[in-house]
Amino acid sequence: MSENKVVVIGELNVDLIASGMTTSPQLGHEVLATDFQITLGSAAAIFACGAAKLGCPVTFVSQVGEDEFGEFCLRMLRRAGIQTNKVHKTPRLKTGVTLSLSTPHDRALVTYLGAIAALEPEQIPLAALDGHSHLHMTSYFLQQKLQPAFPQLFAEARRRGLTTSLDPNADPALGWKEEIRDVISCADILFVNESEARQLTKQNDLDQMLRVLGEVVACAVIKLGAKGAAAIRCGAVEFVPAFPVETVDTTGAGDSFAAGFVYGWLKRRTLRECLELGAACGALSTLQAGGTAGQPDEAQLTRFLAAMKPRAPL
Ligand code: ADP
Repeated sequence: MSENKVVVIGELNVDLIASGMTTSPQLGHEVLATDFQITLGSAAAIFACGAAKLGCPVTFVSQVGEDEFGEFCLRMLRRAGIQTNKVHKTPRLKTGVTLSLSTPHDRALVTYLGAIAALEPEQIPLAALDGHSHLHMTSYFLQQKLQPAFPQLFAEARRRGLTTSLDPNADPALGWKEEIRDVISCADILFVNESEARQLTKQNDLDQMLRVLGEVVACAVIKLGAKGAAAIRCGAVEFVPAFPVETVDTTGAGDSFAAGFVYGWLKRRTLRECLELGAACGALSTLQAGGTAGQPDEAQLTRFLAAMKPRAPL
C-alpha cells in the first residue's frame, strides 16, 4: 500500500463566476460582468487537487449528474491525476452548481445542490477505502442523504488502518445541530475556520475554542485566514502565523491548507510542521485566482518554505 494514498468522499460542483460588475446585481435589473469563468468548485475537489499536486495518489468518491457540468468536473479531476472511477454519474440528477456574482467589494453565492444532496450511503462501497492511508470527508451539511453514514465511514476507515479528517464546512442554515459533535468525534482531524469554530463552540476566545474542540476530537485545527492557523492535539496547542504574501483571491485557501496539513500528517511531521505546511499551501493558493491554480507541488512548497524560513527549512 502506498503510504500517502488518500481517498476523498465529498461533494462535486462547478463554480460559474461572473466578475467585474460595477454595481451589485438586483432582482429586476441587468448588470454587465467584465469577466466570466467556469471552474471546478467544491471543498472536496479543491482538497483533492491540492493533495494530488503534492504527490499523493487520490481516489475521489462522489456523485454528479449525467450532464455537461458533470463531465467538466470529471475532466478537471482526471487532469489533476485523480482517480474518478468511484464518482457516480446518475442520469436523473443534475450536477451541483454554485453561481458566484462578484463585485470589487464582495460577492453573492447561489448554490444548487443537485446530485450533491442525493448521494446515498449505499452508493459508497466500503472496499473503496481499501489500499488507502487516509480518508478526508467534507461538507457534512450539503451532503444531506450521506449525513447518517459519516460516523460509520470514519469507523470503517479506522478499522482498515486509515487515519481520517473532516472539514464539515459552514452550515448554510447556521444551525450547527448537536449531532455534528458526534460526527466530529469520529474523525482524527477536524478542520474549521474561525467563524465556524465560533459557531460550533459558542466561544469567542481562540484558546477557549481550541480547548472545547480538543475535548471532542483528537486533533482540531482552526484556520485563521490572514492571521494564520492554530491546532490542539492531546492538550498541546500550536499556532503559526500566516506567511506574508500578495493575496489575489482567497477562494479555496482553507482546502489547500487542509491538503498541505494532511500531506505533513502522512509524513508523520510534528503538529507544528503540519500547520506550517498547511499555512504555506494556503498562502500559495491565494496568489492566483480560483481554488486550484496556485496550489504548489512538493518542490514549490519546499522552495517557498526555505525562502520564508531560511534557518529552519522543513
Ligand atoms: P477558509 O478558506 O476555510 O475560510 P482561511 O481563510 O482561514 O480558511 O484560509 C486557510 C489558511 O490559508 C489560513 O489558515 C492561512 O494559513 C492561509 N491564508 C488564508 N488567507 C491568507 C492570506 N491573506 N495571507 C496568507 N495566508 C492566508
